[in-house]
Amino acid sequence: MIAAIDAGGTNIRAQIFDDQEKLIGSEFMNTGERGLIEAIESLLAKYPIKNIGISYAGQVHNGMILASPNIQVDEPHIQAYFWDRHRVELAIENDLKCAALAEYRYWGCKSAMIAASIGTGFGSAIIDHGKIFRGSHNLAGEIGHAPYRYSDIPCGCGNHFCIEASCSGSALIRRIEYHQLGIKDDLLEELKLSNDPKAREILDHFHEGLLFALGSLIATVNPELIVLGGGVIHKNPYLVDLANEQVERFTLQTARKQTKIVLSQLEEAPLLGAKLLCGYKE
Ligand SMILES: [Zn+2]
Repeated sequence: MIAAIDAGGTNIRAQIFDDQEKLIGSEFMNTGERGLIEAIESLLAKYPIKNIGISYAGQVHNGMILASPNIQVDEPHIQAYFWDRHRVELAIENDLKCAALAEYRYWGCKSAMIAASIGTGFGSAIIDHGKIFRGSHNLAGEIGHAPYRYSDIPCGCGNHFCIEASCSGSALIRRIEYHQLGIKDDLLEELKLSNDPKAREILDHFHEGLLFALGSLIATVNPELIVLGGGVIHKNPYLVDLANEQVERFTLQTARKQTKIVLSQLEEAPLLGAKLLCGYKE
């Protein structure tokens, strides 16, 4: 029996499958009420689970949780903990890397692909011939912190030159607030309609930041496919058209021609990816 778990900032979702991969249970837990360890142990008390895959909203490496901004963690050595105490095999990956594994399979990719997500931040994950490309410490693909241009508001990491400081949901909110533009709801659409030159600048930097990010990824990774997802992209699907129409100005022409850019079609890519972690081998 296996469990696929999506551990987000506010909720834990779990799906339990039997050995024929038939779904036999779904659980939904609030992370505010309990930590991740306790939540998983409550699943083990209910089902004879032997294998767990976790999609995690934070940084992880080698079965260890390195940083978790929003989830209560009582035991960072989570993989060792469940093996030592319960003899359960557990694999844990960052949520975007899990989503990328699921997208790779969904789109039938054969070589290199990238999943890029714009929500609060701007992240990306690279899959190379079916395997997660990690870099030295599993931080490869942090495209949001690649350099772009100076932003008046610093990035969450403290730097002012990050792409994410110009192109992310949080950058939009903070820059609009900083310049007192009075825009609150449909941020990108309202920026387009504003006559304030600052609004135009924030919008232009957002679009250009996206193109810089995708251009850099295409030039360095030579992917067959880039899948765009995340809350900001899904609310503004015109960004996928903009990327397709304009990214060639920002990257190598030959590599651009070999890359398709599409909108994510998967509703629960991190959870689907968590299931793929059960049995995933490097
Ligand atoms: Zn940054």
